[in-house]
Amino acid sequence: MNKKFNIAIDGPAGAGKSTIARAVSARLGLIYVDTGAIYRSVGLYVCRKGVGSKDRDRIIAMLPEIEIRIVHDETGKQLMMLNGEDVSEAIRMPEISIYASDVSAIPEVRSFLLDLQRDFARKHGTVMDGRDIGTVVLPDAALKIFLTASAEIRAKRRYRELCEKGVDTTYEAVLEDMKYRDANDSGRSVAPLKAAEDAVMLDTSELTLEESIQAVFTLAEERMGE
Ligand code: C5P
Repeated sequence: MNKKFNIAIDGPAGAGKSTIARAVSARLGLIYVDTGAIYRSVGLYVCRKGVGSKDRDRIIAMLPEIEIRIVHDETGKQLMMLNGEDVSEAIRMPEISIYASDVSAIPEVRSFLLDLQRDFARKHGTVMDGRDIGTVVLPDAALKIFLTASAEIRAKRRYRELCEKGVDTTYEAVLEDMKYRDANDSGRSVAPLKAAEDAVMLDTSELTLEESIQAVFTLAEERMGE
C-alpha cells in the first residue's frame, strides 16, 4: 500500500485543533481524526463503571473489556463506538474531560490505543489531532503542526462552544478545567504534550479561525507539492 499523506496537529485543549483540522481535512480530501475522542471514550467507560479516574490498577484491569472503533458517517463526521454503542455525544460532557485527561496519563491506556490510531492513519490519509501525534503516534507524518493560544483565549473559545451546545457551565469553570488539563497533559511522564522537533509552531491567539485554517492549509499544500 502507498504511504498515506498524514498531517499531525497537536496542542493544548482549546487551541482550535479540531475546528482547524476538520476544515483542512475537508479541503484536502483527507479524513479528520479527533484522537481526544478516543481517550474520552475510555474515560466514559471508567466513569460509568463508577471507578475513580486515578484508580490505575482497576483501569488497567478493565482495558480488555473495552472495544473502541472510529467510524465516519456519510457527512464525514467522526463517531465513537464504545462496545458497539455510539457515545459521540456522551463523551463531550465536561466531567468526562477530566476523566480523559487522567486516564490518558496511564502508560497502559496509551499503548492500548496506539495501534488503533496508527492503523487508521496507515489505511487512510488523515488530519489527526491530539497531544502526541507528531511525537509518538505518527512520527513520520508529512506535516506536523503545534497549535497554541493563551489559556484565557482557549477557555473563552471553549466556553462559547459549550454554551452553543447548551452545556451548563461558567467561564471560570472552563478556565480551571483548561489549566488542570494543561498541567496534567504537559507534566505526565509518558507522551507529554510537547511539540515535535520538526513541528511548525502556530500561535492562534491573534488569528481569526479563517486565518488559522488558511495558514495550515498553505503549509499542507506546500508539503504536498514537495
Ligand atoms: O482533545 P480533547 O480535549 O478532547 O482530549 C481529552 C483529553 O485526552 C486531553 O485532555 C488529553 O489528556 C487526552 N489526550 C491525550 N492524547 C491525545 C489526545 C487527547 O492524552 N492524543
